[in-house]
Amino acid sequence: MSYLSGRHFLQIPGPTNVPERILRAISAPTIDHRGAAFGRFATELLQDVKEVFQTTSPVVIFPSSGTGAWEAALVNTLSPGDSVLMFEVGQFSALWADLARRLGLNVRFVEGDWRTGPTAAEVERILTEDTGHTIKAVGVVHNETATGIYTNVADVRKAMDRAGHPALLMVDAISSLGAMDYRHDEWGVDVTIAGSQKGLMLPPGLGLNAVGEKAIAANKASKMPRAYWDWQAMFAQNKAGFFPYTPATNLLYGLREALAMLREEGRANTFARHDRHAEATRRAIRAWGLEVVARDPNQYSSTVTAVLMPAGHSADEFRKVVFDRFNMSLGSGLGKVADKVFRIGHLADFNDLMLAGTLCGVEMGLAVAGVPHKQGGATAAMEHLTAMAQQAHGTLAGVR
Ligand SMILES: *Cc1c(COP(=O)(O)O)cnc(C)c1O
Repeated sequence: MSYLSGRHFLQIPGPTNVPERILRAISAPTIDHRGAAFGRFATELLQDVKEVFQTTSPVVIFPSSGTGAWEAALVNTLSPGDSVLMFEVGQFSALWADLARRLGLNVRFVEGDWRTGPTAAEVERILTEDTGHTIKAVGVVHNETATGIYTNVADVRKAMDRAGHPALLMVDAISSLGAMDYRHDEWGVDVTIAGSQKGLMLPPGLGLNAVGEKAIAANKASKMPRAYWDWQAMFAQNKAGFFPYTPATNLLYGLREALAMLREEGRANTFARHDRHAEATRRAIRAWGLEVVARDPNQYSSTVTAVLMPAGHSADEFRKVVFDRFNMSLGSGLGKVADKVFRIGHLADFNDLMLAGTLCGVEMGLAVAGVPHKQGGATAAMEHLTAMAQQAHGTLAGVR
């Protein structure tokens, strides 16, 4: 293996680039997780972490991947044989449904074409027809990372309310939290599921559940077997800043730093930055003459863009060329769209020049791999970034 010079471009949609500040925070000495100093630290952290969910409800933090947080949401609120309504939008929604089935739940899985997400009308119709209220939970993926499709959670909530249906609303915000607007309380979400390694800029290893009042009530009646994922054990220990078992101490240091960084940037600025990078990316794709997977502009993700490979060309071959020649990792096509789609992650600790470099790498890679395309995508993206920067600069100049 020869040395690959310069910084690696980790442009998969998670794990994302971990900023130096967070790496340094994580490198602090591990302390006694039953000691007083840890208790003080975690008490404050468990309070501060609520902000990123825009909630006042408790947030439970597991040493786990996002998949663990999926499982925790289900086993803490439901009983064996309960029905859950889920929607096929891509590989992650399919995996969550599969996990629910393996837990013994009855999944009502609304099939999809992997290019569009669920509509509020569809949710309302299904729930209105469920007059016996057999559906106990609706599971929605806020940002389907495999296809770059966003689902409007506020609209889903309104559809549930119009149907007058009492099901719990569970939302997977694993690849949106910290990067796209997310409001646990305002949108009436009962359980929000998150992970550390995407918008939160951390390495993998933390799984989070924000738990609303209705979910806490459901927890008391729920009969699914659970041990590791038990919220009650967490709540009991978390009161004093402790955990029922060893927490991921150093990742929690990193989380504290990530929350500080997000606060410094300001929520509105963080979201606007992701929107800008997503728009610039789509402009590049269109200029190359390629196609974005998401069909509906109202369902575009701001953290990841999935791109359809021209027929007869391998997305994996292309990604290999980009890695070997330009030291950049792009996201692969998952499940049904394996080798047909590649994904550009543009989230977390990221800026305009990193995006410009990323898109240059894609454009050069398309040429090297012999993928038919038009030149000028990176330029189109730069034009958008420039215009946005000029707008911001003009505004600043105006108030000076
Ligand atoms: C990454 C991701 C997951 C899975 O998380 P793991 O940490 O790999 O278990 C689930 N849902 C979405 C939307 C994701 O982006």
